[in-house]
Amino acid sequence: MKRVYIANTGGTIGMKWSPRGYCPEAGFLESQMAKMPELKAPGMPEFVIEEFDPLLDSSNMTPRDWIAIGRRLMAHRDDFDGFIVVHGTDTMAYSASALSFALRGLAKPVIFTGSQIPLVEVRSDARTNLVTALQLAAGSPVPEICLFFGNQLFRGNRATKVSAGGFGAFESPNFPALGTAGVDLQVHWDLVLPPEQGVPQPRFTEVRPAKVVALKLFPGMPPEILANALRPPTEGVVLETYGVGNGPGDAELLRVLEEAADRGVVIVNCTQCLYGRVDMEDYATGSALGRAGLTSGSDMTTEAALAKLFYLLSLGLGVDEVRRQMPRSLRGELTEVATSEPASTSP
Ligand code: ASP
Repeated sequence: MKRVYIANTGGTIGMKWSPRGYCPEAGFLESQMAKMPELKAPGMPEFVIEEFDPLLDSSNMTPRDWIAIGRRLMAHRDDFDGFIVVHGTDTMAYSASALSFALRGLAKPVIFTGSQIPLVEVRSDARTNLVTALQLAAGSPVPEICLFFGNQLFRGNRATKVSAGGFGAFESPNFPALGTAGVDLQVHWDLVLPPEQGVPQPRFTEVRPAKVVALKLFPGMPPEILANALRPPTEGVVLETYGVGNGPGDAELLRVLEEAADRGVVIVNCTQCLYGRVDMEDYATGSALGRAGLTSGSDMTTEAALAKLFYLLSLGLGVDEVRRQMPRSLRGELTEVATSEPASTSP
């Protein structure tokens, strides 16, 4: 019988109503799951649940919690066939992205899931998300950090929360779903990354609390506010720009960016658009950002770009190397543009 480890970090799925609104309660998810006959049906894997203390609304998560998740997965790496991380939807895409970089060589499925309505409620998406995630973790050995939600299995670092209220809360705008749950559970194996070459043993990098920030350009953004955000101790910025990576040609704003880049701040250009990728050579307004020292985030989600910054800065690489790795696909998180650079091992 296959065995699945479930790390319950919290989230709506295991919450209970209180006068302050929904909040997590210790032991509640497990007690609700114990009442689900479908989890004991023939063909279902055996599973073990370990709960975080305290359980978290994922809005309260920090990189410390990414580390806690990674440590648990590492501790149980040899004992289970697959892993589920039960997680709130609000920051699930950040955690899944972070784990995709920091946890290497596990070569077993890790599936983040949760729900929009708690499992205890009569009409809830929790049942199907849990049951299917368990079946996938046990029966479809996708050796990636995935996110399963609304009948779709996504690469974790490609997913983003797009709906506050819909059951299809996540999309993977720039990469197809790795799998779909319809009448059959289908995995599109041609899209799945093989286990990483050259990483025979699982290894986990504990990210440090790097000083990174995500900022969104808007018409009339005051350069002095941008300058404030880029001041020390800022080490990295995900700048959400317009369209294919364009920004205002305002001389003062460009000077602020250039000065920060010269000081070693890594500024990643990601588009505000949900679909498509950055190409700073398309427009003069984009090439000016390139000359100011921005590095392309291609079609990465902001979640993936931030997590990648945390990870690369935690490796102690020089700023030039962090900038060089940013537009490269390390874990399938972006669509790489062909380069003449010789391939090297991924960090
Ligand atoms: N606020 C909740 C959380 O992210 C939302 C959810 O789980 O759907 O923990």
